Amino acid sequence: MLLCGDVSAQRKTKKKTTPTTPPPQTELTKLRDEYVRLTNEYKASLGKLLPFYENDVKRAEEKLEQSKKLLAEGLIARAQVEENEHALAIAKEKINETNRQMANAEGQIAGVLVETEADEEIAKNLKLAKRGLIRTSSFTRFTGAGGWNLGDAWKIQRFFSDTFNKQLPIAVFGQGAIHDRWRLDHHNAMDIQLHPDGAEGQALLNFLQKNGIPYSAFRSAIPGTATGPHIHIGRPSHRY
Ligand SMILES: [Zn+2]
Repeated sequence: MLLCGDVSAQRKTKKKTTPTTPPPQTELTKLRDEYVRLTNEYKASLGKLLPFYENDVKRAEEKLEQSKKLLAEGLIARAQVEENEHALAIAKEKINETNRQMANAEGQIAGVLVETEADEEIAKNLKLAKRGLIRTSSFTRFTGAGGWNLGDAWKIQRFFSDTFNKQLPIAVFGQGAIHDRWRLDHHNAMDIQLHPDGAEGQALLNFLQKNGIPYSAFRSAIPGTATGPHIHIGRPSHRY
């Protein structure tokens, strides 16, 4: 299916250079074309971001070195060094995250599409929006007990690796290029590449619910593809 997408993308590019009358489009082909176009654009934009993130890591490293010296001279507290260590870890994670996103661009786009769809569905139904736990055929949303912070992601990662002896498949950690582009606030959220109805997905959702961590679990896929289903941890991303 993805191969089909690539072919239609090439056709589309050719069309741009020699414009002809486009054939009438159905909703489905429109969506698929849009999906392919966004995916290609997104991949290109991610590549441009890497040098900036590498620069951030360099700056965070320098800041950490500086604070270690100040600590040695007794001028600052140990906590400040730890804060800088944490900042460096986050800056490095941003690079890992970008590489993951580039490898998995189709999945990211599909994820944003289904998240936006769910938001629209809830926006139309205020009664639904007030519930702590919403279940529809395409998604489940749990409001949680508040207080979730992306800095606590390690607790979820540890639970998952302890239970399944493998790493939590994080597809998106925090704000990605695609969210910037769509003006979605995803800073305090991460997307896990698991189908919510699978054994691992179910175990993860149970853990999140037990710990009062907000999540949205998406079952729907982009028509004609297998991409879309995932688990979003954190509050829903709102447009800004
Ligand atoms: Zn998400």
